[in-house]
Amino acid sequence: MDRARQFIALTVVLFSLAATAQTSAPVPAAAPPAASRAVAGPAFDVNAAVEAYLAKMPPAQRARSDAYFEGGYWLQLWGFLCTVLVMWLLLRFRWSARMRDLAERLTRFRPLQTALYWLQFIVVVSVITFPLSLYQGYFREHKYGLLNQSFGPWMSEQMIGLLISIVLGGILVVPLFALVRRLGRNWWVWGAGVTMVFSMFVILIAPVYIFPLFNQYTTLTDAHIKDPILSMARANGIPARDVYEFDASKQSNRVSANVSGFGGTLRISLNDNLLKRCTLPEIETTMGHEMGHYVLNHAYKGVVMYGVVIVIAFAFLNWGINRSLARWGKQWDVRGIGDVAVLPLAVLLFSAYFFVLTPVTNTISRNMEYEADLYGLNAAQQPDGEANVDMLLGEYRKLDPSPLEEFLFYDHPSGRTRITAAMRWQAEHPERTLEDEMARPLFDGK
Ligand SMILES: [Zn+2]
Repeated sequence: MDRARQFIALTVVLFSLAATAQTSAPVPAAAPPAASRAVAGPAFDVNAAVEAYLAKMPPAQRARSDAYFEGGYWLQLWGFLCTVLVMWLLLRFRWSARMRDLAERLTRFRPLQTALYWLQFIVVVSVITFPLSLYQGYFREHKYGLLNQSFGPWMSEQMIGLLISIVLGGILVVPLFALVRRLGRNWWVWGAGVTMVFSMFVILIAPVYIFPLFNQYTTLTDAHIKDPILSMARANGIPARDVYEFDASKQSNRVSANVSGFGGTLRISLNDNLLKRCTLPEIETTMGHEMGHYVLNHAYKGVVMYGVVIVIAFAFLNWGINRSLARWGKQWDVRGIGDVAVLPLAVLLFSAYFFVLTPVTNTISRNMEYEADLYGLNAAQQPDGEANVDMLLGEYRKLDPSPLEEFLFYDHPSGRTRITAAMRWQAEHPERTLEDEMARPLFDGK
């Protein structure tokens, strides 16, 4: 799914509120020592309760999770630099101009020329950047025990992702260039609008036409799980008749649930790992969080907030392209802003913009995630279940970062932040304490 995600990084991933709770934590056979327990009540010590939960993860496993997540900071930098280098090569050695020339020789129909250029561009870029994708998406995930797939199935998902990029990217790029040619100077305002409409379109169709290409989705039938979830949905004014389940275990052991879709395709899905690995209170609190996204209209608020980011991105793009072409246009053999050979420059500028704005886009997402956490605590009333799920996420997301780290790199709150919110809620609702959940071992001490 990496390729598809990379491609829609500019648009869809920004809007996506998906992929919340993920972990790979086998339920251990032997109970590890129970950490010191704070008992809810007037004397409830929130900080002590938070530390007790954090102590559930053995130090060696904590170190591995920290290393995995911190390595991700550097990968963001390497990925950005790799994009810059590849785009510069395409321009500097006029490969981009040659791809345009070939497209022009093959057809005189301009929209088709744009589409043919796009096809060459995405294939060439995918091939050049494949070593990094392979390391990041396959070898590194295996190294940390986060991927269940062998090479064949992983690679076939990459190919599906590439095909999706070709089709969806073509649907975006062809009208964008038509706009640029027709509208001239003010193209970027409309370009931002088209991009936002396109993003909403992709989010709308994704649960029905894209996600099923990677995973099988079925409606949840187990009444022990389904009934309490639907009861909570009714109590929160959500007209859901079904909850969806998908077979994420074929890719990894990570626990996850998400809200996907838009309007008529909006739905809540939870994965089979969550069902297998978690207790009912943990599933309930996760569903409460997802319902929070739904009730608080995060999908629509996200469109507005990321919309601002995208409009500014296009203004920057317009400015950057005009300045760069005035200086290097001849050298690169790029005729102007309406020439499709300008695309590597656009991608380079976009990448730089979003790289610099990483803390901003992360903060937009993280704040909504925190709101959903608070909503979920009130809806499910399972603070201990919440803390356990937060710990399970800690297998791949550093549990206890510095505040600056959390601000810069976290698109969800850290484990410490989330557990603190749960324990703060519990301090005010001592009757909702679940000793079983508090004592439940989550990690097998590897
Ligand atoms: Zn969420």
